[in-house]
Amino acid sequence: MARINDSYLKLKAGYLFPEIGRRVSAFAQANPDAKIIRLGIGDVTEPLPQACRDAMVLAVHDMGDRSKFKGYGPEQGYEWLREKIATQDFKARGCDIDASEIFISDGSKCDCGAILDILGSDNRIAVTDPVYPVYVDTNVMAGNTGDMNDKGEYDGLVYLPITAENDFTAAIPTEKVDLIYLCFPNNPTGATATKAHLEAWVAYARKHGSIILFDAAYEAFIQDPDMPHSIFEIEGARDCAIEFRSFSKNAGFTGTRCAMTVVPKSLKGKTKDGQDVELWGLWNRRQSTKFNGVSYIVQRGAEAVYSPEGQAQTKALIQFYMENAKIILDRLTAIGISVYGGTNAPYVWVKTPQGLSSWDFFDKLLSVCNVVGTPGSGFGAAGEGYFRISAFNSRENVNEAMDRIEAKFKA
Ligand SMILES: *Cc1c(COP(=O)(O)O)cnc(C)c1O
Repeated sequence: MARINDSYLKLKAGYLFPEIGRRVSAFAQANPDAKIIRLGIGDVTEPLPQACRDAMVLAVHDMGDRSKFKGYGPEQGYEWLREKIATQDFKARGCDIDASEIFISDGSKCDCGAILDILGSDNRIAVTDPVYPVYVDTNVMAGNTGDMNDKGEYDGLVYLPITAENDFTAAIPTEKVDLIYLCFPNNPTGATATKAHLEAWVAYARKHGSIILFDAAYEAFIQDPDMPHSIFEIEGARDCAIEFRSFSKNAGFTGTRCAMTVVPKSLKGKTKDGQDVELWGLWNRRQSTKFNGVSYIVQRGAEAVYSPEGQAQTKALIQFYMENAKIILDRLTAIGISVYGGTNAPYVWVKTPQGLSSWDFFDKLLSVCNVVGTPGSGFGAAGEGYFRISAFNSRENVNEAMDRIEAKFKA
């Protein structure tokens, strides 16, 4: 019989969101009249910007016109989109990134997993705790870890705790690691990194020859003008970092699918016998072989984000979600609940009140307020005692959820 990839069997069976779904549907079945408000899963709720929709409609017409019809596009993405990204997302912020270093894809989640194709299997890998589960699970699938221990951690990974005590920014490790996953603004904690913090990581990575895998999916939510949006704003990052970006959260493309990965041409890794190799060439080869590009229509939609109308509309979209975050922050603070994040990110990271565990608070919030959030412990052991509330929702739902929490949890 054919062999399977045994590493898949190491994966935690009851993954976070299925378990949330199970508890919510059990509650809904027992309480059919309860009006449940979901502030859990990190998906956007507001419609696509008009500029993106208009551009996609035009692109559909192109596809019906023999002279403009497009078949396979470049695996790396269309030049007109990559140029706009290089100019407006990177060069405008002082980052030395060329259009040829930007690879358009159908999602950052896929790219975060796919990047492991071009990296070795004996790297020492660090993740924060709590963490976006995709970084961990893709390494488990790739066979880069051992089994899971009692704490829910995989042998072979280095976990860097991020808690209120360290301002949700991990201490730079004292030991050498080869790969580091960083996500700023952070999912799930909503924390951001100062320029000084990213400089310390870049200095560490350059000293040890490590690579930083930097997830900037939430960069557009940064309100503070001094916060870096890209790892490439840090001097020297071209030699030690790959950056993942997405249109999912800034332009509501979670269901439309478009993202990008930036691999600088100056970034190198080592072969087994110690030779330096440029990663750009490997990623280009990987994408050309295993990927066939993002649809022309969708890339035209993403391009419209960079038009003046698109810029204004995405900015308004982000402001809308950030006002939700402010309502959540202000109203929870007013009733004496400790909250973090939510000022440069669409997530509010709540210290569970009354010393409740993450899952006990989840159950209580569900049964007493009929509000769904995400237990912090689902993102890692150090997330225990925390809870994630998402600002991705309608204003009406956010206000209603806060009214209910205020009524039941007011000290
Ligand atoms: C939403 C999100 C992404 C974006 O993923 P896509 O596949 O592009 O939709 C990437 N990283 C994190 C941490 C996210 O929360």
